[in-house]
Amino acid sequence: MRVSPATTNHSTSTLFTVVSSGCQVGSMPAVVQTQTVALNRLSELFKRLGSAGAKILSVTPVGEDLHPVAIAASAPAPEAKPKPVTQAPTPKKKAHADVPVNTYKPKNPFIGTVANNYSLLKDGAIGRVQHITFDLSAADPELNYLEGQSIGIIPEGEDAKGKPHKMRLYSIASTRHGDDMGDNTVSLCVRQLEYKNEAGEQIYGVCSTYLCDLEPGSKVKITGPVGKEMLLPDDEDANIIMLATGTGIAPMRTYIRRMFENRERETNGWTYKGKAWLFMGAPKTANLLYDEDFNSYQEKYPDNFRYTKAISREQQNTKGGRMYIQDRVLEHADEIFSMIENPKTYVYLCGLRGMEPGIDEAMTAAAEARGMDWAEMRPQLKKAHRWNVETY
Ligand SMILES: Cc1cc2nc3c(=O)[nH]c(=O)nc-3n(C[C@H](O)[C@H](O)[C@H](O)COP(=O)(O)OP(=O)(O)OC[C@H]3O[C@@H](n4cnc5c(N)ncnc54)[C@H](O)[C@@H]3O)c2cc1C
Repeated sequence: MRVSPATTNHSTSTLFTVVSSGCQVGSMPAVVQTQTVALNRLSELFKRLGSAGAKILSVTPVGEDLHPVAIAASAPAPEAKPKPVTQAPTPKKKAHADVPVNTYKPKNPFIGTVANNYSLLKDGAIGRVQHITFDLSAADPELNYLEGQSIGIIPEGEDAKGKPHKMRLYSIASTRHGDDMGDNTVSLCVRQLEYKNEAGEQIYGVCSTYLCDLEPGSKVKITGPVGKEMLLPDDEDANIIMLATGTGIAPMRTYIRRMFENRERETNGWTYKGKAWLFMGAPKTANLLYDEDFNSYQEKYPDNFRYTKAISREQQNTKGGRMYIQDRVLEHADEIFSMIENPKTYVYLCGLRGMEPGIDEAMTAAAEARGMDWAEMRPQLKKAHRWNVETY
């Protein structure tokens, strides 16, 4: 058994990856199992594995393991069968290991054309959220991107100082193949920023208003793509927990479409087999974004996709208050924590910055109930690329 020397001097919440192998029965091959547990649960796991006749192969602190992208490119584990590296059949789009970044910079943006721009909200919703698609077919070099990346938009006009407006980032809401699978579009999900200033005047955000008002055919300055934080692992068996509020659904939509959308599954060369669980927070049912799509994926793939909604102004939490996404996390803490114990589980969080403290509180309470310390666990998971956050 390989026990990493780094297993010393850790607190009870330090997470470890334990790789064990079951006994060979007849002609059946030994099964290699990988589990993640906190230090204070290691001995319990050792006992369990010992009484099942399993052999412990290695114990490594979480974070020492490789990023999933790197794993796909490196040698397989000793007893695992080598897996072919799956790639999309279209040579135009790059593989995961070759992440495109900054093909177009703010000084030299690509001029895209608006293909369509429509509202994602139902009657009675609060605010304004648009799904906007840009045609990239004129891009030379091609503007390729991956699920989980963002692009920049430079709005027309000048700021109060007479300078051109600065670029704003937006999470990409389409898969690398685009909504129409044509490999030459990119879509965004944009909420018009709206607030009252100190004088009580209604203020609308510069770039978000510019984007929401765009007509098909308009020309737009696009930069990017950027970002590697929110990339999906290559592993088709990975479990993906997604925590989204509002337009934070954009990267999640790309993952979920890549996993379950018919035309994606038929042609993208990536057959998702893990468990994906989306937690979506919105103020009203009418504000749920892409809700019908997610409902239909859940119906079609009940063993692989689960969709849990927190609708703050319509549902109540157990204390009788508004139901926020963190209340749903607490409600399902047991399942979430046992999923996180599996090293193939990755968590993605996206939305307004204000959502983070609530999620952290929920995870802290859930960890405490298990004698664990979330403040210690979180950085370890982050280092292992299993806790991925993009808030703005
Ligand atoms: C990585 C990343 C991904 C993003 N993805 C998305 C996305 O998918 N969809 C999306 O809609 N947005 C997204 N954003 C946010 C986006 O970049 C812009 O910040 C947003 O659209 C507002 O830009 P704006 O030009 O409309 O607002 P601006 O005109 O630039 O106004 C913003 C400024 O208004 C002020 N302000 C804002 N709210 C208030 C308030 N309540 N009270 C007082 N002052 C306030 C602040 O000073 C703030 O800096 C993302 C941001 C990042 C960093």
